[in-house]
Amino acid sequence: MTDPRPPKWAIVQYWANKPPGHDVFTPHLDPDNPCCFACGWFSERWTEGRSPRKAWERATLERAHIVPAGLEGFNAASNIILLCSPCHRDSPDWHDPWEMAVWISNRDERPSKEMEHVDAWLQAAGRVPLFKVALSEVVARGGSAEEAAGVMRQHARRAVVHSGELSQGTMEAILRATARELLP
Ligand SMILES: [Zn+2]
Repeated sequence: MTDPRPPKWAIVQYWANKPPGHDVFTPHLDPDNPCCFACGWFSERWTEGRSPRKAWERATLERAHIVPAGLEGFNAASNIILLCSPCHRDSPDWHDPWEMAVWISNRDERPSKEMEHVDAWLQAAGRVPLFKVALSEVVARGGSAEEAAGVMRQHARRAVVHSGELSQGTMEAILRATARELLP
């Protein structure tokens, strides 16, 4: 059976034309840059060398009904917004579209995927004091950060990735293994 929902780009075009009441459903919409309508989450990599249309079609965003199909919501762009997977999971399935609007207005913004990676690594480094010791050791003997990065990459290659992301525990394990190898 074919998917009755319009393609992502058609949904973007509909909302980008600012239909009445659009702003409560699309506080973060920028037609040139794919992002979650509710939280603004995006990934720079989506747009590299691609037309906005291709970038939106490839973006890991989900087509979410404002009023669910199971509650007689239409499969038209006017009833569908594009959400990241956590927003889709947390958003209301309710007969009154206003609930979705209120939910979106209370939704916290989320940074880009790249920034989340940086934050996650910094947090992991904060929990592995040995890694900081090893880094200052490398610097003290005239080594470069690139040397430490090379060792880190080797250990990272041995890690298994669940659900597309390194887990917090895996990052800490990589940092600990790197530290042990760098320390004399
Ligand atoms: Zn989101």
